[in-house]
Amino acid sequence: MIPTTDQRQQTILNALTAFPPGRIYLMASKETVARGFRLYHGKSVVSFGWNTSRSCLTAKIRETRTSAVNLFVNKEGNAAFSCSSCGESTETSMCVHVICTLLTVKNLLQPELFRQAKPDADYREMLLAGISGDPEKPAKRRTTLEKPERPASSISR
Ligand SMILES: [Zn+2]
Repeated sequence: MIPTTDQRQQTILNALTAFPPGRIYLMASKETVARGFRLYHGKSVVSFGWNTSRSCLTAKIRETRTSAVNLFVNKEGNAAFSCSSCGESTETSMCVHVICTLLTVKNLLQPELFRQAKPDADYREMLLAGISGDPEKPAKRRTTLEKPERPASSISR
């Protein structure tokens, strides 16, 4: 049976929720973990988005340049990660972007974990909208001046 997009999304979110937070400390060198925490507390994850089949959640991280981290489940059904940007992640050691993304995701799914140094409700809501797969309808609009990226008439089917 082919899983529905909702089931795929839920499988990934369940795997991320089940991921042991303490393992994050063991996924990279001390220096990289510390840098990951700094990026996390600096609110460096700027968005979350799903692919069409909902088999992969992508986080965008803004540093000096923007990196993309993919979150998915492997064949064993466990949470798996890859950074498509810096090339520093290996099988045994993750890059700073993966560490930062995991800290952000764990805090979003389980707010008691890795509390933000300066909690920001709007930022949190914006990221949660991306994780829930409904970024088009954020609970609160920051501004009414936002314009669609292109006029509706130019969207082709
Ligand atoms: Zn990276």
